[in-house]
Amino acid sequence: DEVANLRFELDGIKVTPDDAPRPVTKFAQMGLLQQTLDVFANLGYDRPTAIQCQAIPIAESGLDMIGVAKTGSGKTIAFGIPLIRHILDQPHLKTGEGPIVLILAPTRELAVQIVRELKPFLKASDLKAACAYGGAPIKDQIAEIKRGGIHVLCATPGRLIDLLQSNSGRVLNFRRVTYVILDEADRMFDMGFEPQVMKIMAQIRPDRQTALFSATFPKTMAALARKILTHPVEVIIGGKS
Ligand code: ADP
Ligand code: MG
Repeated sequence: DEVANLRFELDGIKVTPDDAPRPVTKFAQMGLLQQTLDVFANLGYDRPTAIQCQAIPIAESGLDMIGVAKTGSGKTIAFGIPLIRHILDQPHLKTGEGPIVLILAPTRELAVQIVRELKPFLKASDLKAACAYGGAPIKDQIAEIKRGGIHVLCATPGRLIDLLQSNSGRVLNFRRVTYVILDEADRMFDMGFEPQVMKIMAQIRPDRQTALFSATFPKTMAALARKILTHPVEVIIGGKS
């Protein structure tokens, strides 16, 4: 069947534990919102990639997860779709008290690219995202966050800490953050962002949902992941690297 085909095509999919939510091989069978399905149709994406088949049901069920798949395999949508329902499920959506979802990315380019790719999906559900990264005036980013009404903040770790500290914490707070995604975690840790990531995580409620996505999963990252995630489901596409 289709799952078997995907396994074949992608040279091995490893999921632990065994009782993790089963993969779903069609967008239409994932129980997604109609407005999300409409965006897929508009983009002409007719079926999910392997990491999307696996990750979307796991993350939509509220579990922590680690998703490892090579560059270009569709990881942005794999974590970007479940965050929509997570936000819509929260009470007091319009109060503008800070983001509900936080996405950490290692570079400005990646942060911008993630938000660009998720924009049509967020827009279809009336949700707003902002980006924050170094090398650009912090005051513009502060203004964007303070205008309120953002649901998703996609940021590099260094700039995020600057924002947290600015104006004694009145610009940005993590009170409403209940879902955190670390994208390109291998690059983030290679670039030495571990202390910043840990500092950020320590300020977010421990009962949050957390997801870590990466192109590779070296042993050193497994140790870090254990400190950040709670009983994560592990999905490794195409063999452990
Ligand atoms: P990764 O983060 O794994 O490197 P991306 O999320 O950047 O990969 O996706 C790579 C490209 O594939 C993007 O241009 C994205 O829009 C496209 N893409 C993602 N999912 C699908 C899909 N299901 N069908 C067709 N194209 C897709
Ligand atoms: Mg990516």
